[in-house]
Amino acid sequence: MRIDSPDVEIVGAGITGISAALTLVNAGRRVRVHDARQVAGGASGRNGGFALRGGTMAYDKAREWLGPDNALEYWRLTEEYLDRLAALAGDALRRTGSLRIAADDEERDEIRAEYDALREDGIAAEWRTDVLGGRFPAAIFHPGDAAIQPARLVRRLAVRAADAGVEIVEHHRVASLDELEAPRVIVATDGYPSGLLGDLEGLIIPTRGQMIATVPIAETLFDCPHYGRHGFDYWQQLPDGRVTAGGFRDFAMDSEFTDSEETTPAIQDALELFVAELVGQPVPVAQRWAGIFGLVLDFLPVVGRVPGGERVWVAGGYSGHGNVLGFLCGDLVAKAILGDEHPLLDLFTPARLMHAA
Ligand SMILES: Cc1cc2nc3c(=O)[nH]c(=O)nc-3n(C[C@H](O)[C@H](O)[C@H](O)COP(=O)(O)OP(=O)(O)OC[C@H]3O[C@@H](n4cnc5c(N)ncnc54)[C@H](O)[C@@H]3O)c2cc1C
Repeated sequence: MRIDSPDVEIVGAGITGISAALTLVNAGRRVRVHDARQVAGGASGRNGGFALRGGTMAYDKAREWLGPDNALEYWRLTEEYLDRLAALAGDALRRTGSLRIAADDEERDEIRAEYDALREDGIAAEWRTDVLGGRFPAAIFHPGDAAIQPARLVRRLAVRAADAGVEIVEHHRVASLDELEAPRVIVATDGYPSGLLGDLEGLIIPTRGQMIATVPIAETLFDCPHYGRHGFDYWQQLPDGRVTAGGFRDFAMDSEFTDSEETTPAIQDALELFVAELVGQPVPVAQRWAGIFGLVLDFLPVVGRVPGGERVWVAGGYSGHGNVLGFLCGDLVAKAILGDEHPLLDLFTPARLMHAA
């Protein structure tokens, strides 16, 4: 649907941009969304499909870094938005829980500190030992987490937005803010360099994530998303039996700070070997792909007005954790534009990155 004189234009039709569009259109605003590709063409349609509560850092670290009240509020908010996402997602989301695995005894002590902090603050979590037949010493089970089909989920939300009156312009790269007519613009491009953020450009660091999907395996080996080694390795088994796995960025860290969506043999081989070890035998790989996410050095999202003017707003920088955070931050940035600013946005302010730079 073509709209005249949009109130807000959004660059990026991933989970963030579509979430923001939904909030704005439901508040009666005229909204146009642009994407250089198509809805969910970026990381929102290429990710591991983990919908996790919480921030990117461990909960005990969040208490230290943000203060206990902020940390608890942050975690509770992500739980609330995960519930909202589940209510909208239909069969694109399964409430499986997730397992945060320790790869060795040292990591077990680390995740035990997180588990203790979660329990002290009344956040649901279960302690597991001898995980996957004793292959891993321990894990935290997060019972409310979910597995999603990310592209399907975002497309579904986009249909909802379009039905409510949002104009979605696909296959159009916005080359300059001058070509947009709305008085407010949201840049929702996470790790993909938009070229629209001025001095903020590059402070959300483009980072590549690579994945593989095997052919279907008849036996159910993993009944929820698993992630370990500080989140460097993650895998799950889809309902049709395929195992998807991603990560191993630390095997070639330098080459992975890039916005190129190419896969590389070093990481693809590591992923293939890892899955063979998990499954107990080599499994043919059916698909390989890469996507880009935005890394921020303090592991906090970047949400709010871009310093230097009133017009441009940003939401992104989820450091590889954007399925729930993108849905949440898209809503928060839209509400802030509507004049209703959530207190957590003080922590997420883009200005902090420019001061640190
Ligand atoms: C391999 C991989 C695995 C991941 N796994 C998980 C996971 O399991 N769980 C999790 O929570 N997170 C995961 N993430 C992170 C998560 O996918 C992202 O943080 C999230 O999807 C970001 O959503 P977004 O809408 O902000 O940005 P994106 O979905 O990346 O969308 C940005 C869009 O902006 C468009 N764009 C950029 N510049 C312009 C321009 N100038 N004009 C027009 N359009 C433009 C791009 O085409 C793109 O479609 C993963 C990421 C990757 C890459």
